[in-house]
Amino acid sequence: MRSLTRKALFALDTAVAATLHPVFRQRLGKFRIVSFLFHALLTREEMHAGKVDPQQETTPEYFRSFLLSLRSYGFRFLSLEELELPGELHGDYALITFDDGYFNNVRSLPIIEELQVPISIFLTAQNVTQSRRFWWDVVFTEMKRRGSSLEQIRRRQESMKRLSRRTVDEQLVAEFGTEVFTPCSDADRPLTASEVRQLANHPLVTFGNHTNAHEILPARSTSQITRELESAQQILHELIGRRLKTFAYPSGAATAEVAECVQNCGLQFAFTTQRGIIDDTALRARYFLRRNLVDGRDSIQSQILRAWSPLGLAAALQPRRTYAAQ
Ligand SMILES: [Zn+2]
Repeated sequence: MRSLTRKALFALDTAVAATLHPVFRQRLGKFRIVSFLFHALLTREEMHAGKVDPQQETTPEYFRSFLLSLRSYGFRFLSLEELELPGELHGDYALITFDDGYFNNVRSLPIIEELQVPISIFLTAQNVTQSRRFWWDVVFTEMKRRGSSLEQIRRRQESMKRLSRRTVDEQLVAEFGTEVFTPCSDADRPLTASEVRQLANHPLVTFGNHTNAHEILPARSTSQITRELESAQQILHELIGRRLKTFAYPSGAATAEVAECVQNCGLQFAFTTQRGIIDDTALRARYFLRRNLVDGRDSIQSQILRAWSPLGLAAALQPRRTYAAQ
């Protein structure tokens, strides 16, 4: 029943947004940025083979259609650097981000070059420097191999999220063996250090900080939070040749205390996974920027309209803090 109500409200939100979009777009403030979050770009074969957690099941084809739809609705594309100059923004913008630092994100390159769309990739430093598989992929593949259902896998991942990475690593090695953090293929491996260095020169790619070991920060002490942020800043600075300015909270988990640590590390903006738009007022809360997780199983048009909607029902119905995304 609750899910039916939710569906009905989402449908209403989409319908209102579709109606208002062309009429009111000029009256809704100086600018409106809708930022979107992707994780991986996987082929259908990779998803069926079960060698990587399919997460939101986004394929390169879906990604291309998503960008084309945004363009057809009249959105212009924004890079992270342009957030620093809000005085120059007018109208509707879309900002495209990827979290974690999967190698498969390079599959976006021919598409963004064709459509001239800037993207931002938030890197988990330790996984890059150690070519280390992400822990949720280990849980997914190992449990699937042993016959667990998707529901059991999601429950297990959820129960492990707030544990320290050290505890997670110890549990997974004890349970599944010492080699489990070695990537299986291009589907689940992180970008390598040399790939990051190369991509740093790409005119359409900007990198951001996504912590050192993907710790869920509100579950850690202030000194641990600072260590997570600082070590990633340092490692990524050495790799990329400049200090990163933007951060994305792992699983979108942000609190005022964590945001203060982010600011103290010299980072200027931080993204959550709270849905909604960023207008001139919201941009002033620069350590709690909203982002809309894209689901490859859902309609592109309704996701775009829901994210943009002046009613904002999708944002209002979302729990304040979500751990649904990695
Ligand atoms: Zn993440």
